[in-house]
Amino acid sequence: MSTKVWLVGAGPGDPELLTLKAVRALNQAQVVMIDDLVNPAVLEHCPQARVIAVGKRGGCRSTPQDFIQRLMLRYARQGKCVVRLKGGDPCIFGRGTEEYSWLRSHGIEAELVNGITAGLAGATNCAIPLTLRGVARGVSLVTAHTQDGSELNWQALADAGTTLVIYMGVAKLADIRQQLLQAGMNGEMPVAMIENASLPEQRERRSTVKRLLDDAQDFRLKSPAILIIGEVVSNSSAQLNQLSA
Ligand code: SAH
Repeated sequence: MSTKVWLVGAGPGDPELLTLKAVRALNQAQVVMIDDLVNPAVLEHCPQARVIAVGKRGGCRSTPQDFIQRLMLRYARQGKCVVRLKGGDPCIFGRGTEEYSWLRSHGIEAELVNGITAGLAGATNCAIPLTLRGVARGVSLVTAHTQDGSELNWQALADAGTTLVIYMGVAKLADIRQQLLQAGMNGEMPVAMIENASLPEQRERRSTVKRLLDDAQDFRLKSPAILIIGEVVSNSSAQLNQLSA
């Protein structure tokens, strides 16, 4: 246990959405390295630990990835139990496996612990089923932000039979709207914008692909937020009522 680094998903914000395994790791931690999007309330499970903030929000001055990795390594080599806390799930846009492999290649034992990813939490909190019999046979989790500027396959994503969940999209709304319309998506396709999913300050606004930009401005949509695009957004309540009838 002493030289193990736990790469733990802290979930979307609500401290009650932590896994029991995450709580167990925090209970044992001597050093906790915490990302911006992690709710500090979860630190109640590790009052004994030294807490180091290593956040890096888009657009802000960030703690370089290399520095974070070396810090984990240093504490692990000192025999400390290290928990690296990441927002949501460590493997969904979280570089979890990258850090896992790096630690292992330096001879450090590491374990990844699931967290509830923001897209799933937002959908469920707003009673939107990401998959729904007869409406959506699948779901894609995508990021609107790529470091190398590469484009998504919008044609495939515009497939009406599946649901699209977009992370890191707030600064890219105009682009997302244009790409989806160009790929042939119906402008009336429903959209849900969900900000601060699972937190007391959670806000939600329903819109359409065509009205995405205007409605987001009117709503003053801010990060962190996810977009859910697909028939499930408008069909959800009606279908669920039907199923429970
Ligand atoms: N590993 C994280 C995602 C990190 S990328 C996870 O699994 O959830 C950061 C993006 O996640 C944000 O830009 C936003 O799109 C989304 N996000 C994270 N927390 C969120 C929250 N509480 N509500 C809405 N979106 C959130």
